[in-house]
Amino acid sequence: MHKLKELISEEEIQTRVRELGKEISQVYQNEPLIVVCTLKGAFLFFSDLVRNITCPHEIDFVRVASYGNADKSSQTISFTKDIELSVEGKHVLIVEDIIDTGLTMEFLLHQFTARKAKSIKVATFISKKARREKSIPIDFVGFHINDGFIVGYGLDYAEKYRSLPSINEIEI
Ligand code: 5GP
Repeated sequence: MHKLKELISEEEIQTRVRELGKEISQVYQNEPLIVVCTLKGAFLFFSDLVRNITCPHEIDFVRVASYGNADKSSQTISFTKDIELSVEGKHVLIVEDIIDTGLTMEFLLHQFTARKAKSIKVATFISKKARREKSIPIDFVGFHINDGFIVGYGLDYAEKYRSLPSINEIEI
Protein backbone atom coordinates (compact mmCIF):
# COMPACT_ATOMS: atom_id res chain seq x y z
CA MET A 1 0.00 0.00 0.00
CA HIS A 2 1.40 3.39 -0.98
CA LYS A 3 0.96 6.61 0.90
CA LEU A 4 -1.86 8.64 -0.69
CA LYS A 5 -2.71 12.29 -0.10
CA GLU A 6 -6.17 13.43 -1.17
CA LEU A 7 -6.04 16.41 -3.52
CA ILE A 8 -9.63 16.55 -4.84
CA SER A 9 -12.53 15.08 -2.88
CA GLU A 10 -15.39 13.02 -4.30
CA GLU A 11 -17.78 15.89 -3.58
CA GLU A 12 -15.63 18.47 -5.40
CA ILE A 13 -15.34 16.12 -8.36
CA GLN A 14 -19.07 15.50 -8.62
CA THR A 15 -19.86 19.23 -8.40
CA ARG A 16 -17.34 20.07 -11.14
CA VAL A 17 -18.52 17.25 -13.42
CA ARG A 18 -22.13 18.47 -13.16
CA GLU A 19 -20.94 21.97 -14.18
CA LEU A 20 -18.99 20.60 -17.14
CA GLY A 21 -22.00 18.54 -18.27
CA LYS A 22 -24.15 21.69 -18.28
CA GLU A 23 -21.53 23.67 -20.24
CA ILE A 24 -21.14 20.92 -22.82
CA SER A 25 -24.90 20.47 -23.25
CA GLN A 26 -25.27 24.19 -24.01
CA VAL A 27 -22.54 24.08 -26.66
CA TYR A 28 -23.96 21.19 -28.71
CA GLN A 29 -27.73 21.44 -28.09
CA ASN A 30 -29.34 19.34 -30.88
CA GLU A 31 -26.29 18.93 -33.13
CA PRO A 32 -25.09 15.35 -33.90
CA LEU A 33 -22.49 14.48 -31.25
CA ILE A 34 -20.23 11.51 -30.50
CA VAL A 35 -18.58 11.51 -27.07
CA VAL A 36 -15.39 9.41 -27.12
CA CYS A 37 -13.91 7.87 -23.96
CA THR A 38 -10.16 7.19 -23.80
CA LEU A 39 -9.70 3.91 -21.91
CA LYS A 40 -8.88 2.99 -19.32
CA GLY A 41 -8.14 6.15 -17.34
CA ALA A 42 -11.19 8.23 -18.34
CA PHE A 43 -13.79 5.56 -17.60
CA LEU A 44 -15.17 7.09 -14.38
CA PHE A 45 -14.99 10.71 -15.56
CA PHE A 46 -16.68 9.68 -18.82
CA SER A 47 -19.48 7.75 -17.13
CA ASP A 48 -20.23 10.61 -14.73
CA LEU A 49 -19.93 13.23 -17.48
CA VAL A 50 -22.25 11.60 -20.04
CA ARG A 51 -24.94 11.27 -17.37
CA ASN A 52 -24.76 15.06 -17.06
CA ILE A 53 -24.85 15.73 -20.82
CA THR A 54 -28.51 16.37 -21.48
CA CYS A 55 -28.33 16.87 -25.26
CA PRO A 56 -28.63 13.82 -27.56
CA HIS A 57 -25.33 12.00 -28.16
CA GLU A 58 -23.73 8.67 -29.03
CA ILE A 59 -20.80 7.18 -27.12
CA ASP A 60 -17.73 5.24 -28.23
CA PHE A 61 -14.37 4.13 -26.82
CA VAL A 62 -10.70 4.22 -27.82
CA ARG A 63 -7.60 2.84 -26.21
CA VAL A 64 -4.10 3.98 -27.14
CA ALA A 65 -0.71 2.59 -26.28
CA SER A 66 2.67 4.25 -26.48
CA TYR A 67 5.83 2.37 -27.28
CA GLY A 68 9.49 3.36 -27.28
CA ASN A 69 12.05 4.44 -24.79
CA ALA A 70 11.45 6.27 -21.55
CA ASP A 71 11.99 9.64 -23.22
CA LYS A 72 8.31 10.49 -23.87
CA SER A 73 8.91 12.72 -26.89
CA SER A 74 10.39 9.88 -28.94
CA GLN A 75 7.53 7.46 -28.24
CA THR A 76 5.18 6.11 -30.90
CA ILE A 77 1.47 6.17 -30.13
CA SER A 78 -1.09 3.88 -31.75
CA PHE A 79 -4.64 2.58 -31.24
CA THR A 80 -5.09 -0.75 -29.48
CA LYS A 81 -8.83 -0.14 -29.79
CA ASP A 82 -10.41 2.24 -32.28
CA ILE A 83 -13.96 3.65 -32.22
CA GLU A 84 -16.66 1.73 -34.08
CA LEU A 85 -18.91 4.65 -35.14
CA SER A 86 -18.28 6.87 -38.15
CA VAL A 87 -17.54 10.46 -37.13
CA GLU A 88 -18.02 11.97 -40.60
CA GLY A 89 -20.31 14.99 -40.38
CA LYS A 90 -20.69 14.70 -36.62
CA HIS A 91 -19.22 16.68 -33.74
CA VAL A 92 -16.66 14.76 -31.70
CA LEU A 93 -15.91 15.38 -28.04
CA ILE A 94 -12.81 13.49 -26.85
CA VAL A 95 -12.91 12.79 -23.13
CA GLU A 96 -9.48 12.27 -21.54
CA ASP A 97 -8.43 11.60 -17.95
CA ILE A 98 -5.30 13.76 -17.90
CA ILE A 99 -3.31 15.77 -20.43
CA ASP A 100 0.33 15.77 -19.42
CA THR A 101 2.91 16.11 -22.23
CA GLY A 102 0.04 16.40 -24.75
CA LEU A 103 1.44 13.68 -27.03
CA THR A 104 -1.55 11.33 -26.63
CA MET A 105 -4.06 14.08 -27.39
CA GLU A 106 -2.03 15.31 -30.34
CA PHE A 107 -2.25 11.79 -31.79
CA LEU A 108 -6.03 11.59 -31.21
CA LEU A 109 -6.70 15.03 -32.70
CA HIS A 110 -4.68 14.10 -35.78
CA GLN A 111 -6.62 10.82 -36.19
CA PHE A 112 -10.10 12.37 -35.87
CA THR A 113 -9.27 15.37 -38.07
CA ALA A 114 -8.46 12.98 -40.91
CA ARG A 115 -11.95 11.41 -40.60
CA LYS A 116 -13.89 14.56 -41.52
CA ALA A 117 -15.61 15.19 -38.19
CA LYS A 118 -17.79 18.34 -38.19
CA SER A 119 -15.81 19.62 -35.21
CA ILE A 120 -13.46 18.19 -32.59
CA LYS A 121 -13.33 19.38 -29.01
CA VAL A 122 -11.40 18.13 -26.00
CA ALA A 123 -12.58 17.61 -22.42
CA THR A 124 -9.98 16.57 -19.88
CA PHE A 125 -10.57 15.89 -16.23
CA ILE A 126 -7.07 17.09 -15.29
CA SER A 127 -4.67 19.40 -17.10
CA LYS A 128 -1.11 19.02 -15.87
CA LYS A 129 1.12 21.74 -17.27
CA ALA A 130 4.62 21.06 -15.90
CA ARG A 131 5.67 18.55 -18.58
CA ARG A 132 3.60 19.87 -21.53
CA GLU A 133 5.44 19.47 -24.85
CA LYS A 134 2.59 20.01 -27.31
CA SER A 135 0.25 22.94 -27.20
CA ILE A 136 -3.22 21.38 -27.18
CA PRO A 137 -6.47 23.36 -27.49
CA ILE A 138 -8.44 22.18 -24.44
CA ASP A 139 -12.11 23.18 -24.48
CA PHE A 140 -13.30 21.83 -21.12
CA VAL A 141 -11.07 21.29 -18.06
CA GLY A 142 -12.11 19.75 -14.76
CA PHE A 143 -9.11 20.77 -12.66
CA HIS A 144 -5.56 22.08 -13.15
CA ILE A 145 -2.63 20.60 -11.25
CA ASN A 146 1.01 21.55 -11.55
CA ASP A 147 2.94 18.35 -11.10
CA GLY A 148 3.03 15.10 -9.13
CA PHE A 149 1.71 11.63 -9.93
CA ILE A 150 -1.98 11.21 -9.18
CA VAL A 151 -4.26 8.20 -8.82
CA GLY A 152 -7.94 7.53 -8.33
CA TYR A 153 -11.12 8.40 -10.26
CA GLY A 154 -9.95 6.15 -13.12
CA LEU A 155 -6.22 6.85 -12.87
CA ASP A 156 -3.89 4.05 -11.86
CA TYR A 157 -0.47 3.22 -10.58
CA ALA A 158 0.40 -0.24 -11.98
CA GLU A 159 -3.37 -0.87 -12.46
CA LYS A 160 -4.17 -0.12 -8.82
CA TYR A 161 -6.36 2.64 -7.32
CA ARG A 162 -8.56 3.24 -10.41
CA SER A 163 -11.80 2.77 -8.48
CA LEU A 164 -11.13 5.37 -5.77
CA PRO A 165 -13.81 8.10 -5.93
CA SER A 166 -11.29 10.92 -5.18
CA ILE A 167 -8.04 12.21 -6.74
CA ASN A 168 -4.91 11.51 -4.70
CA GLU A 169 -1.22 12.20 -5.00
CA ILE A 170 0.84 9.05 -4.56
CA GLU A 171 4.26 8.82 -2.98
CA ILE A 172 6.22 6.31 -5.07
P1 5GP B 1 0.39 12.58 -22.26
O1 5GP B 1 0.46 11.92 -23.61
O2 5GP B 1 -0.45 13.84 -22.24
O3 5GP B 1 1.76 12.81 -21.66
O4 5GP B 1 -0.17 11.51 -21.31
C1 5GP B 1 -1.43 11.33 -20.95
C2 5GP B 1 -1.52 9.98 -20.26
O5 5GP B 1 -0.43 9.76 -19.34
C3 5GP B 1 -2.76 9.95 -19.43
O6 5GP B 1 -3.86 9.51 -20.19
C4 5GP B 1 -2.36 9.03 -18.30
O7 5GP B 1 -2.64 7.70 -18.69
C5 5GP B 1 -0.87 9.18 -18.14
N1 5GP B 1 -0.54 10.08 -17.02
C6 5GP B 1 0.05 11.30 -17.05
N2 5GP B 1 0.19 11.83 -15.82
C7 5GP B 1 -0.36 10.94 -14.97
C8 5GP B 1 -0.55 10.91 -13.54
O8 5GP B 1 -0.22 11.83 -12.78
N3 5GP B 1 -1.17 9.78 -13.03
C9 5GP B 1 -1.55 8.74 -13.80
N4 5GP B 1 -2.14 7.71 -13.19
N5 5GP B 1 -1.40 8.74 -15.15
C10 5GP B 1 -0.82 9.81 -15.71
